[in-house]
Amino acid sequence: MSLSKYQQKRNFANTPEPAGKSTKKKTAALSFVIQRHKASHLHYDFRLELNGVLVSWAVPKGPSLNPADKRLAMKVEDHPYDYKDFKGVIPEGYGAGIVEIWDKGTYTDIDKSEDKNSSEQKLRAGLKKGDLKFVLHGKKLKGEFALVKLKNKEDNSWLLIKHRDKYAVDKSYDSEKETLKNSPINKWLHDHPKPEKKNSLST
Ligand code: MN
Repeated sequence: MSLSKYQQKRNFANTPEPAGKSTKKKTAALSFVIQRHKASHLHYDFRLELNGVLVSWAVPKGPSLNPADKRLAMKVEDHPYDYKDFKGVIPEGYGAGIVEIWDKGTYTDIDKSEDKNSSEQKLRAGLKKGDLKFVLHGKKLKGEFALVKLKNKEDNSWLLIKHRDKYAVDKSYDSEKETLKNSPINKWLHDHPKPEKKNSLST
């Protein structure tokens, strides 16, 4: 768990993102956040608090409540704990674009340990094993999920999978449809329509 990669990639004189220098307040529960991020591509950033930082994955298609969906999740650098509240514009440079908070809440290990330390111990072991199981208490995402590392792939490829429980759905799930139509990113996309591809039919 280190923020050095996170800090190397960013110029904090230029970006409003947290530098990760503040010491976090101890809270009783572990936090998670899912940020929707319009950078060169629209994607979702899935972050779980663990040992004072946010362990992070970029999920191109966004999460799903349908257990049949296995959503690719690329593990990225740990982010500072304060990043869980970050939303806004990242100016030109690393990750340039807009970030909004899509869902947030608390989470536990799969055994729902009441004690944060034993929860973190189990989660650390799962992370190391490449098989991380947890329970989310968000507004949109609830119940059991797993992040499973893909073997024989680039070592940062994981799958985000919903477990079958009372929060699982069988119909198709599209995180974009669960996003407010007038969210900051959607407003921006509306104001900046993709330029028409002229000549695309003439080749
Ligand atoms: Mn991102």
